Amino acid sequence: MARERQQRLSKHPILDLLDEPTVAFTYNGKPLLARAGEVISSALFANGIRVFGHHPRDGGAQGIFCVNGQCSQCAVIADGVLVKACMTPASPGMEVESCEGFPAIPEDNERVSFHDIPEHETQVLIVGGGPAGISAAIELGRFGIDCILVDDKPELGGKLSLQTHYFFGSVEDCWAGTRGITIGAMLAEELSKHPSVRVWLNTTALGAFYDKKIGVLRDGEYHLLSPQSVLVASGAREKTVVFAGCDLPGVYGAGAFQTLVNRDRISAASRLFVVGGGNVGLIAAYHALQAGIDVAGLVEALPYCGGYKVHLDKLQRLGVPVWTRHTVIRAEGRERVEKVTISEIDEDFRPLAGTERAFAVDTLLIAVGLTPVDELYEKLERYGIPAYAAGDAGEIAEASAAIFSGRLVGRRILRDLGVDVSIPEDWETLAEILRSKPGKTYGFQPPADTAARAYPLIWCTQEIPCNPCTVVCPRNLINIPGSIMEIPEYTDGCIGCGKCVAVCPGLAINLVVNDYDPQGKKALLMMPFEFEMEVAPPNSKVVTVDVEGNTVGNGRIVAYKEHADLDRRKLVL
Ligand code: SF4
Ligand code: SF4
Repeated sequence: MARERQQRLSKHPILDLLDEPTVAFTYNGKPLLARAGEVISSALFANGIRVFGHHPRDGGAQGIFCVNGQCSQCAVIADGVLVKACMTPASPGMEVESCEGFPAIPEDNERVSFHDIPEHETQVLIVGGGPAGISAAIELGRFGIDCILVDDKPELGGKLSLQTHYFFGSVEDCWAGTRGITIGAMLAEELSKHPSVRVWLNTTALGAFYDKKIGVLRDGEYHLLSPQSVLVASGAREKTVVFAGCDLPGVYGAGAFQTLVNRDRISAASRLFVVGGGNVGLIAAYHALQAGIDVAGLVEALPYCGGYKVHLDKLQRLGVPVWTRHTVIRAEGRERVEKVTISEIDEDFRPLAGTERAFAVDTLLIAVGLTPVDELYEKLERYGIPAYAAGDAGEIAEASAAIFSGRLVGRRILRDLGVDVSIPEDWETLAEILRSKPGKTYGFQPPADTAARAYPLIWCTQEIPCNPCTVVCPRNLINIPGSIMEIPEYTDGCIGCGKCVAVCPGLAINLVVNDYDPQGKKALLMMPFEFEMEVAPPNSKVVTVDVEGNTVGNGRIVAYKEHADLDRRKLVL
């Protein structure tokens, strides 16, 4: 089945398309195609299949939830064996069946045979090849420490491979102003320069034991490792929320959605709704729009969205309605989501009768928070194995914080191994800043000289850890007075280079060019743009909105600027 007849992305403003599907397999006897190496869940989604089985208790239809190996909602039978569809590649000739009720135990009349278990010694075992694990491994590798890094996926990068947006944080310490996917590739490249770090992909850490050994399953083979210490950098799993219909196929995690769309390039939905106004929910909604998926709205139970205001602003500018003090009360449909109903809630989070609104959607994304995957850490502590945690496994925060926490914990491990290495005094403080939730929001400050030839409008008015705009300005006109949590300030003297517009992860800087119209009646506005140009081609008339999406008038697209340095971001004038 060609790409256009499967539910795969046929274009994307940021991501390259992947290979055509060529792997023939069957689902409940029906012949289908997957891409080489593609997991069963993505292959089924690409073929329009959302129901993976029916629950043994009530016969309810089951679909995916996490697409990260952390739940078992996507269970299917592959060649007679119960597997997680999100962790098992579809292979040529594989016969996949839906899991109907309790799966049968496969017949196994072979004599059980035992063989020697391969055992390995290492100084440091790192569990998790995401931002924290790789960053720590690089620190350890620099000093030639023997490490084994295990990850249950076929590629390094963890959640970085889903994060198509520019990162916040500090340019100097965690590549702020660079896309997560690009950072993932850079970290993997850097790690490959350190031969003392052995990377075992497709390897799951199964448990820690009283004899201080760690059991791992590597490509289906059981191994025992005896490390001197273990770093748990196994990330987080998505939380869920209970409401009528919360287990219908089509209700799943926002991270799962990003995996389907950004990693596997599946056109996973036509129209969706989002529950949760933290960064995960806000970013997932933006990623949906970039993939050409309509976003009907977003609800947040608190009176405010907990994510960065700049993320919320860009969604609202794109016309996505956001309701605070609201929640989802129902998802309905025959075997999959067809409609969701939201309601206003009171201060005790109880729905208020008469405030319900219903939306026809095929997908409901759940973004109500993350919880650390830290069970191994607890086991290690119980058995007295020296243990460290970094990234989300230690404390839930942004991926930029995970990168830096990996570096910091890597240094701590080095020091505990007796390596003569310093930990800069300000690292602990910086790690704390990078983990910070957004702080106060202030009023917008226009530049002092609005008659100048050019000047930036900086709509970044909330305390968040971020600094790229201060680093790129060739005239050092944008400064953050104290820590990177504070609000950037502009001093007059802009030469109109647009670098601050191009680098801002929050899409929060516009550039006003005053000398565009000799009559002085019109101004040229430069804005960042991360969609296909066909949405608003040059010369088209557009409705202009303010920073929070309120209509202010009309405008005309004059031109787009594209450059390799912009890493697929366009500047629209
Ligand atoms: S447009 Fe260029 S010169 Fe002007 S503030 Fe931004 S980075 Fe500085
Ligand atoms: S304006 Fe500066 S500090 Fe604010 S989000 Fe953009 S780059 Fe970061």
